[in-house]
This record gives sequence, structure tokens and C-alpha cells, in this order.
Amino acid sequence: MKQFTIFGNPVAHSKSPCMHNMAFAGLGEDALYTRTLLQDGSKLREVFFENNFMGANVTVPHKEDALRACDEVDSFAKSVGAVNTIVRQGDKLYGYNTDALGFLKALQKFGLDIKSIVILGAGGTAKAISVILRDAGYEVTIVNRSAGRLESFKAQGFKTYTFEDFEASSYDLVVNSTSAGLEDDSLPAPKEMLAKLLSKAKASIDIIYGKETPFLKLSKTYNLPIKDGSDMLLYQGVLAFEKFVEGRHSFEEIEAYMKRAFI
Ligand code: NDP
Repeated sequence: MKQFTIFGNPVAHSKSPCMHNMAFAGLGEDALYTRTLLQDGSKLREVFFENNFMGANVTVPHKEDALRACDEVDSFAKSVGAVNTIVRQGDKLYGYNTDALGFLKALQKFGLDIKSIVILGAGGTAKAISVILRDAGYEVTIVNRSAGRLESFKAQGFKTYTFEDFEASSYDLVVNSTSAGLEDDSLPAPKEMLAKLLSKAKASIDIIYGKETPFLKLSKTYNLPIKDGSDMLLYQGVLAFEKFVEGRHSFEEIEAYMKRAFI
């Protein structure tokens, strides 16, 4: 039986084992997907081979270590500096980033007419989704609490602001890509700033999944269509699974089984 896993710390909360095992069972693959709590990210490669894994997903805080653990990394994952999917072929590890494309798919399935997007947050996930959104033709602006993490966005030519120098204007979509609201009740930006953004927006998305965050609750008061991070999670999983099974099953088949983990 082929073994797959998700590396993270913490990892107990992860939905990935349930999603992938649903799809493996449904599609008749002789495979098992487990979770691996990894304290030291620099040990990822060693632990991967010790356990004879054939593939893995990687979550917080090991996506950068995962990139270093691979023999080859695809150009998109390299450009955003983070790997969330590893596939083994022989003695080599190949790294990919499916988070960003997962977000793009979720946005496309939202079915709204969106041209301009403001992303709140400048962490690893913001980095990945901002690049893919710009490549897909959206106009992307980044706003972050502090200046430090904005530097790499600025260097890539994005419009970047801290809360202090941001003049909230009109954007079609507001995305919360911070971890505000994940384990507390905080908003990702000052309430007055959010009020200005949400009152002019067509929709909002929070990439946090499994709960209605304060950001989504506030968005609802402006009667906006909202979406949490569940679809992004689903689609990054489907895209990773496609790589695990080397094209033996279609995107739609995988999606149909994986979706059952969300019922
Ligand atoms: P990082 O730790 O790399 O970045 C966190 C960002 O959040 C930083 O920009 C930080 O700002 C900002 N931030 C944190 N707390 C606050 C706050 N109270 N107010 C304002 N800004 C805040 O995180 P990631 O990018 O890896 O992950 C972000 C979120 O995305 C997490 O909640 C994670 O669960 C979720 N996620 C969801 C996925 C899905 O499939 N749905 C996939 C991947 C991630 P500063 O620079 O000022 O510290």
C-alpha cells in the first residue's frame, strides 16, 4: 500500500487526511494518507524517506523547508518560495505549490465579475495567491499591518501599503489572507478601513476555513457574497491528488470524492 502524509506543526486539525483518504478509497487506489507532526522542518526529507512516503502535503510552518527538501521544484513554487506538495519518483523529490491555483479555482467558481483585488496580509499565502492572481490578469494590491513583509511584494512590482499609508479606494474583491480571526476574534485591519473597503466591494473571501470569521461576519453586514477558505482547501487538495496519482483520474472525479470530506 502506498503511503502519503501531511507534514505540519500543528497538524492534528488538518482536513487533508480525510479528503485524500475519501478520494483514494472512492477511486480504488491502494493508498493511505496519514498526518505527521514535524517539529524540525529541516528533518522533512529524512522523515519522508524513513517512512517510505510516496507523496506529501506540507502545511504551516514547513513550506519553505519543503522547498529546500526537494531535488527539483517547479518554477511557480520557486518564484513564491513555498512548496505544499511533494511527489517522489524513485529517489528524487519533486516540489509544487497547489495553494495558489487552489485559490484561483475557488475564485473562478465564485462566478463574479472581478477585476481589482485587495489582499489583506503579506505572509506566505498572500505571496502565492498574489502572483497567480496577477498572472491571471487581476489588478492586485497588498495591504499589511507592518512594513517588513511588504518589501518582497514591492520588489515584484505590486502596489503595497501599510494600514498607516493606505487610502481605501474601490476594489471589486477584498481577501483576508492574514491569520487574524483564526484563533481569536480579531479583524485583519482597522474596522473603519474595512468599512470603506467592504462598502464599495462586490464580494469578500477569507482564506481561513471551517468558521465564520469576524471578517466574514462584518462582510455580511454589507450584504456581500462571501466565501471562506474551504474551496481553496478542496482545490489545492484535488490538484495535489492529481499529482499523487499521476493523471490516472480526472480533476472532476477526484473533486467528487474529496468533496465528501466537507459534508
Ligand atoms: P503567515 O504567518 O505567513 O502570515 C500571516 C499574515 O497575517 C502576516 O501578513 C501578518 O501580518 C498577518 N496578521 C497576523 N495576525 C494579524 C492581525 N491580528 N491583524 C492583522 N494582520 C495580522 O501565514 P500564512 O500566509 O501561511 O497563512 C495565513 C492564513 O491562511 C492562515 O490563517 C492559514 O490558516 C490560512 N491558509 C488557508 C489555506 C486554505 O487552503 N484555505 C491554505 C494556506 C493558508 P504582519 O506581517 O504584520 O505580522
